Amino acid sequence: MNTPAAAIDRASLPALFTPRGLDTHKGSFGTVGVVGGGPGMTGAALLAARAALKVGAGKVLVGFAQESAPLPCDVLQPELMLRDFRSLLDEDWGVTAWVAGCGLGTGALAANALSELFVLRREAPLVLDADGLNLLAWGDIQPNWSSGPVVLTPHPAEAGRLLGIGTADVQADRLGAARQLAQRYKAWIVLKGAGTVVCDPAGGCRVNTSGNPGLATAGTGDVLAGMLGSLIAQKLPLEQAVAGAVWLHGAAADALVARGVGPIGLTAGELADAARTLRNQG
Ligand code: AMP
Ligand code: MG
Repeated sequence: MNTPAAAIDRASLPALFTPRGLDTHKGSFGTVGVVGGGPGMTGAALLAARAALKVGAGKVLVGFAQESAPLPCDVLQPELMLRDFRSLLDEDWGVTAWVAGCGLGTGALAANALSELFVLRREAPLVLDADGLNLLAWGDIQPNWSSGPVVLTPHPAEAGRLLGIGTADVQADRLGAARQLAQRYKAWIVLKGAGTVVCDPAGGCRVNTSGNPGLATAGTGDVLAGMLGSLIAQKLPLEQAVAGAVWLHGAAADALVARGVGPIGLTAGELADAARTLRNQG
């Protein structure tokens, strides 16, 4: 009954290191749409978006959950296209994977934006993180599970909120909690924390082997969400994209610690640069 879960390690992720074809262009690597960054939380959406770009997405757009975009341009990452959520949702930008929830907020504007996104995404995969999960747990959004894959990325407290149990109960049986969420939502589940558990919608689960306590700092979850959206947008097989992002995120932290950039003082944004190097070095 309790068969041990398989490990997510480098050897199990060939798609992460497949070289790019010569005859490619930015359209070959997908467009990520990030919906998040409510008032006071602009940085969460930027961290996700920058990470999406640095692990290889062709284009990345941000729709801030604010009446107007708080910045005309990210001066450190001017490649990003910054919009307010309305303009991102109302026009067809050709988004091939969505990342929603990072710093989204939980007010009416956030809930409405997310409910709309569930419809407007059509078949495009959706990564739901942070406040997106809180809105889901509280029944404040109308999710539509029938239109394309969904990846839920709860940390233990968010998983507890979704299941209606305490954080300690989640931690006491992480595999069981993740499997229950997968079966309940028919979604991919990434239950974060040391030994991140990844489950497919049928409840088949694996446990990640990379990562370290340097990740216990603000914004690392946003970076993971951006990496997930990016690899999915790049059309890696879904299982390779989800497990691959989780492994790459932890391996980036491991590489930084090996260079003395952490565990103490590692910052979330640095993960994206380290992950880029790992992918390119193969
Ligand atoms: P969040 O709580 O949403 O900011 O996400 C934190 C990220 O850092 C997740 O990917 C966690 O799996 C990871 N993380 C946090 N603490 C640790 C730890 N002690 N060991 C490994 N990964 C961690
Ligand atoms: Mg988080």
